[in-house]
Amino acid sequence: MSSEFNLIERFFTKPTPQAVLGVGDDAALLAASPDMELAVSTDMLVSGTHFFPDADPRKLGWKTLAVNVSDMAAMGARPRWATLAIALPHADEPWLSAFASGFFACAREFGVDLVGGDTTRGPLNLSVTIFGEIPRGQALRRNGAQPDDDIWVSGTLGGAALALAALQGNTALDEDDLASCRRLLDTPQPRVELGMALRGIANSALDISDGLIGDLGHILERSNVGAELCFDALPAHTVLESHLADEWAQRCLLSGGDDYELCFTAPRARHDDIKALEDRLGLKLSRIGKITADSGLQMLDAAGQTMPKPESGYDHFA
Ligand code: ADP
Ligand code: MG
Repeated sequence: MSSEFNLIERFFTKPTPQAVLGVGDDAALLAASPDMELAVSTDMLVSGTHFFPDADPRKLGWKTLAVNVSDMAAMGARPRWATLAIALPHADEPWLSAFASGFFACAREFGVDLVGGDTTRGPLNLSVTIFGEIPRGQALRRNGAQPDDDIWVSGTLGGAALALAALQGNTALDEDDLASCRRLLDTPQPRVELGMALRGIANSALDISDGLIGDLGHILERSNVGAELCFDALPAHTVLESHLADEWAQRCLLSGGDDYELCFTAPRARHDDIKALEDRLGLKLSRIGKITADSGLQMLDAAGQTMPKPESGYDHFA
């Protein structure tokens, strides 16, 4: 069995061009750029809670970093550095090698240097702290939504939840549909370019990790506002589209976690700027409703009638 140091050196030590000092000392050294604020966030993935114990390690490596990169995207920050704390039951080298290849693929894609971490024996647990930069005062926060703001969401919703439902045997999908939904669940694509482009445009933003209704609820609560959503405007994943009369499909769309799309609000006057972003980024952006001065969330059907109150998102302690 390799020593801890051996494992770190073999699997987690790569050049860190953006850091003053990377892996190998008691601490990494980072120099923030002038006039930038640091955005810092930690996300932990626990075996059996966030992923199946037999999850493909390469995909798990991607997802471990991607969910953290997504938090940077949600703030409008550029991700730059990360640390990785791993607890592993035993030093399974093929597993670590595959995990590291997925992790570093995501790191390369989004320009993140892995600058440190901790490696220890224990039940499988993966925790990343990520550091990003954002021009002073320009972060996209949850507390800035204003009455009459449009509410927008990127990409499509419900695909990851649908894959999970199929894997748990709660619904059946044909092979192609399962494959397309599984890609969303296993290898989410954080919306970093969108987040940065929304600086100065969006009044509030977050990433959807626990379902649209629950996560939008955080914006409403922090901003002290309410919302009206148009059910027909919600960008359901194509596989869900033909099932939207069914309760399970609605649940995937409204409360399904793990999509990692951005939900944001912006003044109506910025509508055309946002549509221009849709073209520039090649990413669907849908206007799904508007912020109201009255608190609470209303879902409207095509005729403008109020629909029954949707259940909220995933809560680990509910
Ligand atoms: P210390 O005992 O001083 O905490 P460690 O022995 O835990 O140091 O780690 C040695 C070096 O390796 C440190 O620079 C640490 O940040 C880095 N490191 C440990 N585990 C990881 C990991 N999983 N990924 C990246 N760097 C790591
Ligand atoms: Mg240590």
